Amino acid sequence: MPSNIIFYGVDSHAKECFNSWLLEGLDPVCFVDMDKQKHYKAFNGIEVLPLDEAIERYPDYELYITFSEENMPGCWESLLAQGIPPERIQFADKYDAEKRSAGMLYKKGCEFLYNFVSVSTFKVMTCPDNWFFERSKFDVPYEESKDLKQALEQNLSLRVKAIEALAKNQKAPCDSCSFLQWGYFPPEPSIYHISLPGRYYGPFCNFSCSYCNAARLRSKTSIKKINIMDNLRQIGEFLPDSKLKINFCTGEFFIKPEATEVLKFCHEKKYIVNFLSNGSIYNDAISEIAREGNVEYINISLDSGTPDTYAKVKGIDCFGLTVGNIEKYHALQIPLTLKYVMYEGVNDNIGDIEGFLNIAGRFKTTVAISNNQLNENALIKRETMDLIERMIQRCRQLNLNIILYRDFFNPEDVCKIDKIIEQT
Ligand code: SF4
Repeated sequence: MPSNIIFYGVDSHAKECFNSWLLEGLDPVCFVDMDKQKHYKAFNGIEVLPLDEAIERYPDYELYITFSEENMPGCWESLLAQGIPPERIQFADKYDAEKRSAGMLYKKGCEFLYNFVSVSTFKVMTCPDNWFFERSKFDVPYEESKDLKQALEQNLSLRVKAIEALAKNQKAPCDSCSFLQWGYFPPEPSIYHISLPGRYYGPFCNFSCSYCNAARLRSKTSIKKINIMDNLRQIGEFLPDSKLKINFCTGEFFIKPEATEVLKFCHEKKYIVNFLSNGSIYNDAISEIAREGNVEYINISLDSGTPDTYAKVKGIDCFGLTVGNIEKYHALQIPLTLKYVMYEGVNDNIGDIEGFLNIAGRFKTTVAISNNQLNENALIKRETMDLIERMIQRCRQLNLNIILYRDFFNPEDVCKIDKIIEQT
């Protein structure tokens, strides 16, 4: 708790919220306001001073903006223009004692900027890497001859620079990114959450799902000699003391020749792991990690509720095998997400959706609703929207969590689905 809290802004919002801020532990020494008429008068029983004088009286101050949310950014910018260091500015409305005592600061950023890196066979990057959305920033390329650790170091320093620029309200690579938001973030970025996108490492996938653009990606992605295990080892050397979260995404992790070795390594290091999978391959080495509760989740795209539709969507006839593996994961108490990619004319029917939800209900999974990625963000049909509504209603009845893959729907459809989720 800072010793000298100065509240900035004398208005009705500050009057209304004053007592609740006191209860949250904010105890100001004075108020500050730009309006000279208010100076040297009492507001809520506390003196109102000009900014300069307040800073002179309380040099180890922390300034808490007391304006409501819509006025916060303007006030923040004006304080920076007056030379107030960003680390001294907070927001009374966003005060969170627990986060503050953990050393977190309220500032602009995103979870990726502070915690995340994605490591492919040829570059290290920070922003979410998606087949369709090129948000990637802070990319550090590396060749086989160079050290991955060096690339991680460089990526970290690019992020530190961006964080400094954001704090000073200067031009930063994150400007205009939709992920950029105000929130509580640690003083420095770290590498905690690591993604190893399977499409860059060795065999890509054993399926050819009809909605997948794997073929296009295969032609675009050069698979180099580096294998997933080599990079994982280097990450372990670079961050020997960290408890990491490793995300095995894109493609099918369980077909990698090194899958067992990777699982054993993660178990030894006590890493938290999560996987995106088609569910067709079960590797018993996961049971050791699961026993320690370190499998965060497995996200399986089932996309159907009947063997026939499964074969049509996935290109392989192994519905029963996949459901059997889901059962094995469930027995290991691994949290599961079952994904349903809406594929118009193929799986958008009541029979498949009911079959899918029966499985989701039986294993108490989260349900992820997605859209055909090849749809290029086109609006979905009215009938498909009705089915999504029905799906959401059934999830509520079955008490299943719902995730929406927003990036794959047209924004107009996202609004409609959000509304359904909210009202159901
Ligand atoms: S560019 Fe966007 S996603 Fe990337 S680190 Fe910045 S805010 Fe996050």
